[in-house]
Amino acid sequence: MAINKVAVIGSGVMGSGIAAHVANAGVPVILLDIVAPGSQNRNVIAEQAIERMLKTDPAPLMHRDNARLITPGNLEDHLGLLADCDWIVEAVLEKLEVKHATYEKIEKARKPGSIVSSNTSTIPLKDLVGSLPERFQRDFLITHFFNPPRYMRLLEIVKGPNTRADAVAAIDEFCDVRLGKGVIHAKDTPGFIANRIGGMWIQSALQAAFDLGLTIEEADAAMGRPFGMPRTGIFGLLDLVGIDLTPQVAASMQRTLPKDDPYLRIYKDRPLIAKMIAEGFTGRKGKGGFYRLTKTAEGRVKESIDLQTGQYHASVEPALASIREKEPGALLKHEDRGGQYARRVLGLTLAYAAALVPEIADDVVAVDEAMRWGYTWRFGPFELIDRIGVDNVVALLRAGKIDVPPLLEKAAGKSFYRESNGQLEYLKVDGSYAPVKRRAGVLLLTDIKRRSKPVAKNGSASLWDVGDGVLCLEFHTKMNALDPDIMAMLMRGLDTVKKSNGAFKAMVVYNEAENFSAGANVGLGLFAANVALWPFIEEGEAQGQNAYKAVKYALFPVVSAPGGMALGGGCEILLHSAAVQAHAESYIGLVETGVGLVPGWGGCKELLTRQVTNTRRPGGPVPPLMQTFETIALAKVSRSAAEARDTLMLRREDGITMNRDRLLADAKAKALALVAGYQPPKPVILNLPGPTGAAALKLGITDLVHQGKATAYDAVVAEQLAAVLSGGDTDITQETTEDQLLALERRAFQALIRQPKTLARIEHMLDTGRPLRN
Ligand code: NAD
Repeated sequence: MAINKVAVIGSGVMGSGIAAHVANAGVPVILLDIVAPGSQNRNVIAEQAIERMLKTDPAPLMHRDNARLITPGNLEDHLGLLADCDWIVEAVLEKLEVKHATYEKIEKARKPGSIVSSNTSTIPLKDLVGSLPERFQRDFLITHFFNPPRYMRLLEIVKGPNTRADAVAAIDEFCDVRLGKGVIHAKDTPGFIANRIGGMWIQSALQAAFDLGLTIEEADAAMGRPFGMPRTGIFGLLDLVGIDLTPQVAASMQRTLPKDDPYLRIYKDRPLIAKMIAEGFTGRKGKGGFYRLTKTAEGRVKESIDLQTGQYHASVEPALASIREKEPGALLKHEDRGGQYARRVLGLTLAYAAALVPEIADDVVAVDEAMRWGYTWRFGPFELIDRIGVDNVVALLRAGKIDVPPLLEKAAGKSFYRESNGQLEYLKVDGSYAPVKRRAGVLLLTDIKRRSKPVAKNGSASLWDVGDGVLCLEFHTKMNALDPDIMAMLMRGLDTVKKSNGAFKAMVVYNEAENFSAGANVGLGLFAANVALWPFIEEGEAQGQNAYKAVKYALFPVVSAPGGMALGGGCEILLHSAAVQAHAESYIGLVETGVGLVPGWGGCKELLTRQVTNTRRPGGPVPPLMQTFETIALAKVSRSAAEARDTLMLRREDGITMNRDRLLADAKAKALALVAGYQPPKPVILNLPGPTGAAALKLGITDLVHQGKATAYDAVVAEQLAAVLSGGDTDITQETTEDQLLALERRAFQALIRQPKTLARIEHMLDTGRPLRN
């Protein structure tokens, strides 16, 4: 059954986040809340929720316009709006009686066969609907989103004994494909999967820091990065989510967990935490938390709380030898406080996770995915056990007098995951292995790499046969910075398709790193500039221009499929591709001015061409020039793929994929759809205004310098950009070819890279990751 219209009841933190994300999927959504007592405007709560969405950072909406898909209303006047909704999500207060009253209202208004779900974190499904008519139970399930719904990938689905299988399937598919969530099926047990294990992790880390006398910096350093857990560590995480949540979670766990649950054994009330909450020190949303920033004469100082005295003091870098280790196994061997702490916290958490399969989830894969997607762990608990070694973990538990769960005993001498004939397998609870199955339609390069050899490979990039006649170019440098080896492999890829006699029909540019590409390897450029290797730099620029031109004019489609950052040269390849299939979370922009340069691989040329030939914008030679100039000079980066359409970095015809795991399959399909009758684009000839246009652009930047919004060197860079975009020494009656524009890019780029202030910007970017405003 199709989900074409959704309603969300409750417009608080979660309800508004879910409604925003449904709108991100392009689906209309009704957002209802109670009538605010004493307010003239009966919709004020839901309306204000929508206003907040537009102001919240990080933004719940992928594009401001998506807010128009959300219709606010209230639960007294607008229940009728539920009548044509296919899915109704309840996200009201976490109180059983409030939820029951809400279901009664929904039941009166909804159409037969519509699906109802609750976003509850703690109330078992049997309590939510056990007393309701079977008709309602059949259409009901739990859909547990994580906060914030746009960014947290996990969605836990819990069905009841009477839930219709087709209702579960419909929600599963909608949330996976349309909302892009990582859908995990959990059982109706307290905290489901992620919060159950996450709760133990947080509680054991909190208690152990008190018991073993660690500073919070030591605890956070020991538990964060070495194990691939969030860098905030536990105390930083509690500050972020709100310390007041701790006793609430504990109370719910105490209410719902079996009496012999290890969580209840380790839990202790800590007077310091009660005092912090009572006095408003609830974390970032309150007066401060375990950490706080205090303003002093010298600027802002980071302070942290002493767990023993409850007093704040200036934060001290932890100096333990253990936490300098990068490998989890090495850290765990240390005898200092850091090592002891990590053994205790990990021992309790990993043993807990192993003891809960299959009680809370069918297999270890679901648990690992839930922790990666819901708690942003880099490795799930069983992946972590494999990294440390099953036998080492068992020894660690025995030494720490922690019960060794049967599943770990079964895994002795083995691992939870293994590769067999190019197939990833996991250990089942019966001790045998089974293949890790991907969902229908999911295609991962990681899997292809397991079962095949690259068509070609060098240190920076590889070519893979991804099936159905599609060749995939994968970058694999640090941050996927583009270098001469990548350009060489790109050319090799184009050549491979061309000479394959039809065995390959198209190419996709895709990788599974966090970021598609952070742009050209400016470190290499800086090195060459410092030793005046100008020919190397000139060649590098020409190589990139030629490679991207070859992408554009290939006789077969090249489809680029970014996810995460696609900046500078990483954006320029998109601009030259026949089409783009972007992950919804793509951050696309030409950021070269930030390092004192202009786009030099055809980025100026392509964006300008798009603006000039864009029929949606009003005519005249100057507006498209202005638009391009502004986008590049301000180094604008889209905060989503949808936003990238505003700057024409993406075209209307380019595709957007919500689920990262479906990006390669979608990019492949897009490429194959273009194959029949494919014609490369015709070269565009532009009529550009020349010096008069450049002068107009310069006026704007001079103004900004006067207002103190741009530096004098920003103006130098912008002038070079203006010279490129206005077409150089030309006027509106003359024609400018693509090659002429490329030559102008080269001239501007080569002039700027010889400037000390540009080199200072590059150096600063490499050192700090931030632009220098010199
Ligand atoms: P919230 O307090 O931000 O929002 C609750 C909403 O319920 C408010 O908009 C409020 O006006 C509305 N409400 C109050 N009384 C009501 C009534 N009598 N009838 C109908 N609506 C009423 O809470 P939240 O954090 O958004 O939590 C909502 C649900 O999501 C809860 O079930 C919670 O357990 C769950 N949840 C929360 C998080 C989280 O991180 N906050 C994460 C996952 C799940």
